[in-house]
Parts: sequence; C-alpha cells; structure tokens
Amino acid sequence: MPGRRRAIEPIDRRCAIRILIVGGGCAGMSTALHLQRGLRERLRRGEVHLTLVEPQAYLTYHPLLAEVAAGTIDPRHVVVPLRRELTECKVLTARITRIEHASRRAWADAAGPGEPPAPVELHYDVLVLAPGSVSRTAPVPGLAEHGRGFSTVGEAVGLRNHVLEQLDLATTTRDPALRQAALTFVFVGAGYAGVGALAELEDMARYAVRGHHHTTPDDLRWVLVEATDRILTEESPELAAHTLAELRERNVDVRLRTTLESAAGGVMALSDGSRFAARTLVWTAGVRPNPLLRDTDLPLDTAGRVRCLPTLQVLGPDGRALPGAWAAGDGAAVPDPHADGAPCAPNAQHAFAQAELLAANVLVALDGGPHASGIAEYLPGPPACSTSLGLGRAVAHTRGGGRLTGRRAWWLHRARHLRRLPSGERRVRILVDWALTGLFSREVVPIGRPEQPDRPEPADGRPV
Ligand SMILES: Cc1cc2nc3c(=O)[nH]c(=O)nc-3n(C[C@H](O)[C@H](O)[C@H](O)COP(=O)(O)OP(=O)(O)OC[C@H]3O[C@@H](n4cnc5c(N)ncnc54)[C@H](O)[C@@H]3O)c2cc1C
Repeated sequence: MPGRRRAIEPIDRRCAIRILIVGGGCAGMSTALHLQRGLRERLRRGEVHLTLVEPQAYLTYHPLLAEVAAGTIDPRHVVVPLRRELTECKVLTARITRIEHASRRAWADAAGPGEPPAPVELHYDVLVLAPGSVSRTAPVPGLAEHGRGFSTVGEAVGLRNHVLEQLDLATTTRDPALRQAALTFVFVGAGYAGVGALAELEDMARYAVRGHHHTTPDDLRWVLVEATDRILTEESPELAAHTLAELRERNVDVRLRTTLESAAGGVMALSDGSRFAARTLVWTAGVRPNPLLRDTDLPLDTAGRVRCLPTLQVLGPDGRALPGAWAAGDGAAVPDPHADGAPCAPNAQHAFAQAELLAANVLVALDGGPHASGIAEYLPGPPACSTSLGLGRAVAHTRGGGRLTGRRAWWLHRARHLRRLPSGERRVRILVDWALTGLFSREVVPIGRPEQPDRPEPADGRPV
C-alpha cells in the first residue's frame, strides 16, 4: 500500500497516551488486537493505555450466525470473549452515548442487568470509532407483533427453535389453515442476513421433516421479499445472480421489487397484491449506520457514516485529517478505489482489512509526529465473496475472479471465515462442531424456551 504524508497531531510524551476504541465487533476488536500486539511493551510500561468500550462482553461473528440457526455451530462458538483475547487492553462493558472530539471526551453508560445506567466520562488522546451499524426498521403494521430480527446469537437460536416448532405443529394439528401458516416462512430483506438465514434454515428444515409423518419438503413454503431489483447488494452482481438461481432452483419464492405492506393478524400483505398467512416473519431489511454517530461532533455523510480519508483518519472541516480521530467498519465512509471512490460496502472483509491498516497507521502516527511518513491508504484486495446456502452448498468468488458453486465453494467459504475469526480457540471449537455435524449429521431438536424456563410451552401453536 502506498505511503503518504499526513498531518498528525504531536503527542505529549510526558503523559501516557490514551487510546479509546468504541465498539468491539469485527473492526473494533481486530484493531485492538493489532494495537495490543504492536504496543505490547509500551502497554506494559504504562506509556500507552488501550481501552475498548463495548456493550457486550464479546464479539459476535455475524457471518456464521446462519449456521448457528441451522444447528451446525454451537451458539457460544460464534462469540469471542473480549477479555480473554485482549489481555493488555482495558475492556469496559458499557455503551458510548456521546463523543465530543473537540475536548477529547466521551460519555458511556455502564449498567448491570436490571440496574439503572451509571454514566462514566472518559478522556482520550486517540479515538478509534467502530460502532458498526444497526438494523433498519420500517413502520409496517403488525411487524412489531409478528416479526423477529436476525442479528444476535439469541435471535439465531430463537429462530431455529421456532422453525423446528412449526414443523412439529404442522404435523400435529388437524387445522389445515394453521398447518399452512406454520409451514410458510417469510424473510424480508435479501442481504447477507436474510439470504444466509433463509438458505441455511430451508436446508435444515428439508432434513428435519424427514422424521415427520404427513409432511414433506414440498409442503414447506419459503418466501424471500426484496425491495430492490437484486439480492445481496453487498456482493458482486455475478455472485448475487448465482445465489438467486440456486435459491429458485430450491423452490424458494424470491420476489424482487416487492415490499411487505402489512403483517397485521399474521397475514402477510405484499406490494404485488398477494396476501397469505405465515407464522414466521423474519425482518432482515438492511442496516443503517449506528445512531451514536449522530451524537458526536464528527462529520457525517448523508447516510450517517463518519466521513473518512482513505487513510482511515476522520476528515476534518479543512479537508485534511482531523487529529487523533480514526474510524473503520460499517460506520465509516471509507472511499473504495475500486468503486470510483464510493464508500466501501458494509461487510466483514472490509471491516477486518480496515482494522489492520488502521492499527498500523496509528502506530506510525504515535511515533511519527506531525509529518509521519508511512501512513498508508486503504486499498482493498479483490473481493473474496462467498455465501453459504446450507450443508455442502455455497457460491463463492475466488480472488483470481473465478466462480465456484457447491461443495468447493462451501469449503472455500468455511476456510475464509475460519481465517477471519479473531480467536484461535474459537476456530478449533468451530472445526470440531463441523466435524461432529459431518459425523452424525444435523441436530434438529427444538430446545424450547430456555430463556423462560417456567413458562408453559404452547400446546396448540397459540401463545399461552
Ligand atoms: C446476520 C448477519 C450476517 C452477515 N453475514 C456476512 C457475511 O456473510 N459476509 C460478510 O462479509 N459480512 C456479513 N455481515 C456483515 C458484517 O458482519 C459486518 O459488515 C461487520 O460485522 C462490520 O464490522 P463492524 O466492526 O463495523 O461492526 P460490528 O461487527 O457490528 O461491531 C460493532 C460493535 O459496536 C458495538 N456498539 C454498538 N453501539 C455501541 C456504542 N454506543 N458504544 C460502544 N459499542 C457499541 C456493537 O455492540 C458491536 O459489537 C453480516 C451481518 C449480519 C448482521
């Protein structure tokens, strides 16, 4: 990557340098790991303090959540405990609520379960912003009552149990309308989350119904609703077209240029005029930058992302780098040279690659003073995209521009995500999960509602 001279604020070397990282996801945790490695001696001598603030005590590795829903990975294995990996870093389990970069201060709310938030004021010299994005919602009637999200481990486990319960219900009930609604699964939004979750769950349900009398895979109805004219907008058009063809081959009813108008009463009303009952509605209609960014004094683009230079420094009002402020990941508008300078797509590949460069640039800046050379610009490699579509099924692009489908694509997809996962121990656990699935095939038992152990299970499909 080409080096380039940028103005860096000189650091007062008499005091310890305080680096504050906001967010412990792909970009935040990865930056912390690289900085921890590069600053180990200085951290131990107390010359640098590294603090990471994250509301969860762990990183959630989203690209493998669909495999949690499908039961091929244990839920605990797609989360990486921050304190175990970031041994030289102070990890605060709290949520940043406001940042005033002009005075180098941030405010956080720390709270234990059920306790009122306890505000904390944090002072820093160097800020790394990586709070990611949040799910986009819409005022659709009935969505709050009938929809479920798919961005946390809890939601993935809940959806898996729910789908398996619907298969049980359909086999047990004598009410044909209830049976049909139980066997209809609607996903709104065809990005990573929607496509991955639908494809993995369809594959799992196809396997699970083998043990059910009177229900066959052909009785299951899977509907994917997407407002735009293509699926997987985060990926290349070729990969998206491949994935679409594979889904349609599996009888998934993909409706492009269509929106969900209402889900009131559990009846899905689509903008193409169709109406049908469904007991499963999964809302995965895209993401928007974290709203925290609006509570900062940093410049944002029209979408609400922090405006960045290609060096991952936040853009100042004079068009130069804002001293001491850096950003990466979904919440950062980093120009993508392969897309005529449009911001990089929100995906894990960019988040990890930006984090690595950001940490290297911060190290250069700490040592280099105002005219540090070696601050490099972000130049992403060729897209290494892939999507898992069930056991032994995937579509993938190789770095050389080739296209793979089926088992070879699936192995490549798995290898890529294992390599990106920022914990050796988690990699081993996931490998063991995959090996066990290969040995014994899938586990398809719904484990009820572990979060409400005292609540009776619904016997007839209606909430108790
Ligand atoms: C279900 C799903 C599947 C996906 N599949 C793929 C895939 O197959 N391939 C791919 O490339 N990408 C995929 N993505 C996208 C990918 O996960 C993101 O692009 C990537 O995680 C972005 O990294 P990030 O660090 O910017 O955000 P995140 O990894 O989301 O991390 C942001 C962190 O900031 C924390 N945070 C939020 N608010 C605050 C606050 N106020 N204070 C402190 N911390 C805060 C959050 O808790 C979170 O841990 C998927 C996303 C989802 C949801």
